[in-house]
Parts: sequence; C-alpha cells; structure tokens
Amino acid sequence: MDGPILLNLLEEQHIPLWSHQRGEKDPLVFGGGPVLTANPEPLAPFLDVVLLGDGEELLPNFIDTIQEIRGLQRSEQLLHLAQIPGIYVPQLYEPKFSNKGELLDIEPINSNVPRSITKQTWLGNTLSYSKIITPDSVWPNIHMVEVARSCPELCRFCLASYLTLPFRSPSVTNELIPAIEKGMKATNRIGLLGASVTQHPEFADLLHWLNQDKFNNIHLSISSIRAATLDLHMAKVLANHGSKSITIAIESGSERMRTVVNKKLREEEIFAAAKYAQEGGLKGLKLYGMVGLPTEEEEDVEATAELLLRLKKESRKLHLTLGVSTFVPKAHTPFQWHGVEAKADKKLKLLSKKLKPKGIELRPESFRWSVLQALISRSDRRLAPVIALVRKENTIGNWKRVYQAIRQGNLSETIEQPITTAQLPSWDEIVHQEWDRSRTLPWEHIQGPVKPNLLLDHQLKALNQKNSKN
Ligand code: SF4
Repeated sequence: MDGPILLNLLEEQHIPLWSHQRGEKDPLVFGGGPVLTANPEPLAPFLDVVLLGDGEELLPNFIDTIQEIRGLQRSEQLLHLAQIPGIYVPQLYEPKFSNKGELLDIEPINSNVPRSITKQTWLGNTLSYSKIITPDSVWPNIHMVEVARSCPELCRFCLASYLTLPFRSPSVTNELIPAIEKGMKATNRIGLLGASVTQHPEFADLLHWLNQDKFNNIHLSISSIRAATLDLHMAKVLANHGSKSITIAIESGSERMRTVVNKKLREEEIFAAAKYAQEGGLKGLKLYGMVGLPTEEEEDVEATAELLLRLKKESRKLHLTLGVSTFVPKAHTPFQWHGVEAKADKKLKLLSKKLKPKGIELRPESFRWSVLQALISRSDRRLAPVIALVRKENTIGNWKRVYQAIRQGNLSETIEQPITTAQLPSWDEIVHQEWDRSRTLPWEHIQGPVKPNLLLDHQLKALNQKNSKN
C-alpha cells in the first residue's frame, strides 16, 4: 500500500518518476522486500532495479557490481546488473498482450537478457537483528532479533511461508544468544521476530536462558506464537517478562476451513493455549482470523463466532480480542488464483454482531483496503499509471475513480506514461474473479521457491478437502 508514497518520495528528491525518464545523471532507483519479490509488476516501471529475495544473498553481489560498472553508460549498467541472479531490471522486459487485453507473456527485450529471474534465498546460519535502537522507531527502544525465517506450516494463503521457504533457524548458542546480548547492552526491551518464532527447534533452550534471574528486568515480546507450542512454562516466562498478552493465529473457528487452508491446529489446542495463557498470568489473548477464504460458507463464520464465545466462557480472566481480515490472494501461493470474496464485508459484520455484545473486542481490517491490496497483489504493469495518479490523493474512492477513468479512456488528468495500448482489465476481474489456471500470471517470469505445478497441486488438495467435516 506504500506504492504512491514511494512516488512522492522520488518527487521530493527531484528524481524522475518513471525509470525510462531517468538519464545519465540520475541515480539508479532500486527496491526489494517481500511485496516486490512476490509481484513487482505494478511498481516495476518506477524502479530501475528490483532485488528479488534475501538481502544477505543479493546485496554483496549488487554492491560489488555497482562498483565495477561505474563509468559505463546507464543502459550498459542495467544490462550488467540484469545478469546477476535475483536482480530484475524491469525495463529490459516487455509484457505482451492479446487484442483483447489478455497478458500473454513478459519477454526479455533481447537475447542478452535472461528469460526469467530466480528469487534468491540466504542459506547461511545467521539471520538479522537491530543495528540501531532508538526511541523514534515504530517500536521504540526495542532490540529485534530474527529467530526464524519462513514457516514450515504451508498454510495455503501464506506468502510468509511459500515465498520464503525453506524454514531457517540459527543456532541458539552460537547466533541468537550473542545477538540478544548485544542488544541488552543498549535496552531492556527484546523482541523475538519471525513468522513462526516458537517453532525454532531449540526455542525451549532460548526461553530457559532468558528466564535467568539476572534478566528479570528484561521486557520480552514475541511476534507470533503457534498455539500448539504454548505451554504453561512459556506463558509464565512471558508474563514474568512484561508481556500482557499473546497472539495466536487460528485463521478460522471452523475445523473444516482450517483443513482447507492446511492450518494444522485442533480446537483442543486453541483451548489449551487459552488455559495456559490464563494460568500463566497473562491478561489477554489475541486471536487472528480471516473471512472470505476459498470455499468458506456462512456457517464457517458462525463457527468462528461460536468458538470465541466458548473461549470467553472458559477463560473469564482473559481479555479476548479477535483481529480479522479478509482473504487477499498473494502471488506464489496455492490460493493465488482465487479472488477476494465480494460479500466478505457481510461476514465481518456478522462477526461484529455476534461478538461485540458479549464483550469480545473485534478488530476488523477494512474490507475496502483489502480490496485495494488485492488489486496491487494481482495486477500487471498497467496499474502503474493508476498508482502515479493516485499519489496526490491516496483514498479508496480515488483509486476506483482513476482506475475506471483510465480503463474507459476518459481521464481528465494526463497519464504521464502509457505502459501499453492494451486496456486495463475490469476491476472485478483483478480483484474478485477466480482465474483460470492456464492464465499467464503477471509474475510468471519470477521463479519463486515453489514451482507453479506444485502450487497447483497444493491448491487442488485444498479444494478436495472442502467437504471434510466441521
Ligand atoms: S502458521 Fe502462520 S506463518 Fe506459518 S504458514 Fe501458517 S499462516 Fe503462515
């Protein structure tokens, strides 16, 4: 959702917005991170270079090459960079469309440019930790240590798992403890980060080390806890170190839905987690769920509400919160072909109606922003002019207005850079429709860790489980 902000930053620095407008004296604008790695296309025309994958792997090569190619013409520099594994130079690729506006291919502009780009994965035994601790950051004065990268659980919708495989966990003794000790010299607030922190195979050892008397003043927070890994000891250690609540992702209260999305979490484990949280002295339990998942029916949403109500009855001392978002399809996951359910906002309202009067706090993510996330998640380069035009008024209404106006060719503002003469697809097609499996995807030229035919197998497996019992 930061696309329009990126353009404002370029503008403030007097850097031309579109990569092809930049000349010999302009800097090379490069980007990276999970959003650009999954589907760089909507922002591709603004970037000279995109680094696909882990910085530990990509940056050394990138920086060395930048030093070697100093003095060359910009076009030659870009061609050199495009030869490095994981480095994508969007202007050296051209999308091809049919007369009807269907994306057919994303082709390199000549035979010196690789046909596809492979996401790079760091397989070394270190991960990252804060290098700067400051009261002015989003999480002030916290020393963050990345305990694990990726997640072995493979929930079918999950970018944090599928795009970042394999699961990696550095040694507690040789890497994590020294990294935490460094931060302890500067702050008493330690944050353990990762998509699946408590699945680190030596997590119990790390907890044991943190639980020493000399660390009694350390405030500990953990970004995510897999419900099945929470026990009384972990809950007590967290409570003793200043944590007020824990968050567990249940995705859905319906066992059937959890089977479809491959969330290997039984109802007993959710209840046990709540019991341990309460007995361990924590004050709150935050659950995280979704609506609008493929094959979801209203009764599945009812099951989520019922589960929360039963949890409330059994854990009276805990403040219960349900954070709930709408399913948004993500590239390189088995659910990439599914759309956002158009009526998912009604399901959010249903949860609100059932839970709020019973004292359960509901934190729904805006359905309309989820729709925009899907637009950015599944679009190709034709979205770039929309992003350029909404940068001055980044509201949901304006996104829709600009999109429709460009699609219908009756825009009053000037499009600074028409990407192609092919018409934008309909909003509904990009956001809500389920796509045919043979469709060319906008990220087809990016090789993720899981091959497309395997993603398809996983998707079929999920859909075959849609009739499993709740
Ligand atoms: S457990 Fe969480 S991080 Fe792991 S695959 Fe499932 S949703 Fe993703």
